[in-house]
Amino acid sequence: MIRVEHLSKRFGDLEVLKDVSVEIQAGEVISIIGPSGTGKSTFLRCLNLLDQPSGGHIVVDGQDLMAPDADVPALRRRMGMVFQAFNLFAHLTALENVTIGPMRLLGRPEAEARARGRELLGMVGLADKADAFPDELSGGQQQRVAIARCLSMDPEIILFDEPTSALDPTMVSEVLAVIRRLAREGMTMAIVTHEMDFARDVSTRVLYMDQGVIYEQGPPSQLFEAPQRERTRDFIHKVR
Ligand code: ATP
Ligand code: MG
Repeated sequence: MIRVEHLSKRFGDLEVLKDVSVEIQAGEVISIIGPSGTGKSTFLRCLNLLDQPSGGHIVVDGQDLMAPDADVPALRRRMGMVFQAFNLFAHLTALENVTIGPMRLLGRPEAEARARGRELLGMVGLADKADAFPDELSGGQQQRVAIARCLSMDPEIILFDEPTSALDPTMVSEVLAVIRRLAREGMTMAIVTHEMDFARDVSTRVLYMDQGVIYEQGPPSQLFEAPQRERTRDFIHKVR
């Protein structure tokens, strides 16, 4: 579904991603773990061109996002992104947050967008908060609206960048529960996370990033129980 080939990214002299190649298949749930500052967020941001890669290719269903004639907005629309800070539209209600994209960008009629929006808010457990504004919601509730908003665009893959790390511990589990449910339903996802237990049970594959490369990857059982390389072992040891 997404093939990343020799992706590199530099900020000035700083080489943040170094020749990263990886393929993500439909239905996979990829967790991306690794020390702070190793390029995990930059990697996700490059995938949908929020950061412009310095080199390499990102091929989505056979189309290269880096090609001069690529329809970037269309390709980008197929990838949803959920950030650490929820980034909801503050002046819109929960329901309006989940209908504005489909109406404005996909041309859906209002009645249809609202019906689907209510369904999505129900799915994330917020059926009763449709008319609340973001500042009337808890952090966990805001993040669930952000996930519903992302789903409203019918993405083929969702990229999560530490979706729970800005949340009070009491709210983490409600957000993780939504992501677990999406995993069960077969949604393709790439999730940067520091929640190791979650990464271990939800993902089909774990990427360990270190200093701008995918240093080791494998199924969670292998990466967490029997890491093959020294830096992976050190990291796993430290975070558990
Ligand atoms: P964390 O776990 O702390 O979120 P990360 O693995 O997500 O870390 P990145 O945010 O991708 O790390 O940052 C990787 C490196 O790139 C860091 O050294 C960071 O300072 C640098 N960097 C990120 N964004 C920019 C930018 N816009 N301009 C300059 N340097 C940047
Ligand atoms: Mg980050």
